[in-house]
Amino acid sequence: MAVLWLEDVDADDVGTVGGKAASLGELIGAGLPVPPGFTVTAGTYRTFIEEAGIDEELFTAVDVDPEDSAALREAEETAAELILETPLPDDVRQEIVERYRAMGDDGDEAFVAVRSSATAEDLPDSSFAGQQETFLNVREQDLIRRVKECWASLFTQRAIYYRQQRGFPHADVDIAVVVQRMVDAEKSGVMFTSHPSTGDPQITIEAAWGLGEAVVSGTVSPDNYVYDRERGAVDEVTVADKKVEMVKDAETGETVTLEVDEERRNARVLSDAEIGELVELGKRVEDHYGTPQDVEWAIYDGEIYMLQSRPITTIQEDSGDGEEGDAAEAAEGTTGESDASDGAAATNGGDDDVLVDGLGASPGVVSGAVRIVHKLDHLDQVQEGDVMVTEMTMPDMVPAMKRASGIVTDEGGMTSHAAIISRELGVPAVVGTGNGTRLLNDGQNVTLDGDKGTVRAGADKDAESGEEFEPVEAARPETPVKPMTATEVKVNVSIPEAAERAAATGADGVGLLRIEHMVLSLGKTPEKYIADHGARAYQDELIEGVRRVADEFYPRPVRVRTIDAPTDEFRELEGGEGEPAEHNPMLGWRGIRRSLDKPEPFRQELAAFARLYEMGYDNLEVMFPLVNDASDIEGIKRHMRESGIDPETHRWGVMIETPASALQIEELAAAGIDFASFGTNDLTQYTLAVDRNNEHVADRFDELHPAVLQLIGDTIETCRELGVDTSICGQAGSKPEMVDFLVEAGISSISANIDAVRDVQHEVKRTEQRLLLDSVR
Ligand code: PEP
Ligand code: MG
Repeated sequence: MAVLWLEDVDADDVGTVGGKAASLGELIGAGLPVPPGFTVTAGTYRTFIEEAGIDEELFTAVDVDPEDSAALREAEETAAELILETPLPDDVRQEIVERYRAMGDDGDEAFVAVRSSATAEDLPDSSFAGQQETFLNVREQDLIRRVKECWASLFTQRAIYYRQQRGFPHADVDIAVVVQRMVDAEKSGVMFTSHPSTGDPQITIEAAWGLGEAVVSGTVSPDNYVYDRERGAVDEVTVADKKVEMVKDAETGETVTLEVDEERRNARVLSDAEIGELVELGKRVEDHYGTPQDVEWAIYDGEIYMLQSRPITTIQEDSGDGEEGDAAEAAEGTTGESDASDGAAATNGGDDDVLVDGLGASPGVVSGAVRIVHKLDHLDQVQEGDVMVTEMTMPDMVPAMKRASGIVTDEGGMTSHAAIISRELGVPAVVGTGNGTRLLNDGQNVTLDGDKGTVRAGADKDAESGEEFEPVEAARPETPVKPMTATEVKVNVSIPEAAERAAATGADGVGLLRIEHMVLSLGKTPEKYIADHGARAYQDELIEGVRRVADEFYPRPVRVRTIDAPTDEFRELEGGEGEPAEHNPMLGWRGIRRSLDKPEPFRQELAAFARLYEMGYDNLEVMFPLVNDASDIEGIKRHMRESGIDPETHRWGVMIETPASALQIEELAAAGIDFASFGTNDLTQYTLAVDRNNEHVADRFDELHPAVLQLIGDTIETCRELGVDTSICGQAGSKPEMVDFLVEAGISSISANIDAVRDVQHEVKRTEQRLLLDSVR
């Protein structure tokens, strides 16, 4: 039987119909209202590839070196071609189409959702299980192709990479497909049958107009209803301004986003009666499973439908559950240990040999062969010890950046992705050369000086050649006793892999843990990631990264910041097509502005932090980027509370990155912040109107400009009067002159780059001693 009605399957059928179909069948069996549908069993996929005789070819095609990105891409293409171009036997096609037609109304074609349903034993890892495709509003003419596209999504580059890396045979993986009638929701949303972080008997319902995608992807701020199960009453109703809704376009059948008409925009979505009905369903589904559930629901023509139900495991870490299990720790190999030899005759480079110059972004002198990298598919060319030369680095270049002995970019300033990541990887780098990719030649031997910002011809005998590099040792203080300073010296971290190096510096904590890299390296925008894999999987990714750092430092404090990536960076990702085109992304929709406007990904970040608090990471402090004034704080506090983080009991604070925030510090303090941290990368660019990433004005980017110092000095003074801690986490915190100024001004802590921590510790000590001496002299 190639297909089974959903009502004929249940939780025991995960092996034949996959997790999604099994759980929908289970809900139907429990008498809950689920839109009708059927599943194309995993066996159908298997029989298809075997009987068509493409199985061997398929599995051989995808058996590639996972670190070879060109091979991965080719494997994905070959697999898709094999699956999509091999015809499906007529009898199977017939069976699928017949079931589909049976779902139509009086001859009207049904609109269906076609979703992959991974078989849980084979795909134990949620970060993987969610990789497969989903298609909405599909009709008969596209049905078979969509089913096959679901099958082909077993062989995306990421899925192949994952299985190859873990030695998981491709032949052991199966996939089923769910074909389910779409509900033309008039209203929809999600429901937590208990409090998602405390487990209290409180049902939370979020609701918006139109299709649920708008809520799940965070396109709209939904209404929020809280129901107290003990008192049996609605406790709180927060009506949101629902600017848009997603609906099916009557003509094309595609999902479109429309503005909500005036009357409904600020109107309540759910009546008390509807809340009552949802609450009843919520209780039934929780009773059925015996654990609190996270339910997606929709209302059409007065009927409530349940679209999905998953256990809420935020309350307690639960790794025993098939689909929800923790992503396994990816064991990282050590870098730079091969016996690469540059083989070139050593020449002694004087300054005349300078081929290109730029900004010395990460210190160290190395020699190696140039590898020009224009596109992702060339990344595999970067071998251990090469000098990687590219326009600008991207999050998915990190594996290649780790193999490289040095990094050169055309674009970017001292605070660009390339600069930040190379410093943390401990790989010397020169950024913003303008023309490195044009002037340097592939295979040419060069010496890169990450202090001076130069690339010279030839190999330098004094330079390291990559293989001797020992990241942890290099960062460890020479003496086990670090200088004791009254001003705390912390460290900045942007990639979780750098946690160990960062902790080895003896820093007093993490002054800034950026999550942008963790998020961008997922390859999808947060909205797309959540839509494809669920909010829970997104939280899991964040938790995995943050935890790695929080563990390394515990009990020293770790300040984790909510996301701050500009739209042009999101646009590079899958799902980024819809990002607004901005003339000035630096001045645009980024940081807390975006988070408050589009709270769904933001709330998942907070939910992840709330889960970390639940797990006992009481050393976490949440920090918010790019705030301007106290009105931002109101929104921040509301979202913190709603995500289960009590702003009164947890320490949290804001970045001071705009002149406005520095000038509004009294209001920010009155609004309840515990600390303010100077983001001098942005504060400098916004004070001086100098784009931080533009190499043409890099010489004007001066964090020590008197205007910047005045804003910082005044803010510290006010904060001292008001009992608010101050810190710096911008790149300037690694500069001795800035350190002197800040210690003298009375800053509470300084957070530096990994490579600078030791020097900053000494500089702070020197300044503190001088101040003490001055006071007694
Ligand atoms: C800053 O602006 O100084 C800062 C630390 O934030 P980011 O570099 O991530 O913008
Ligand atoms: Mg910033």
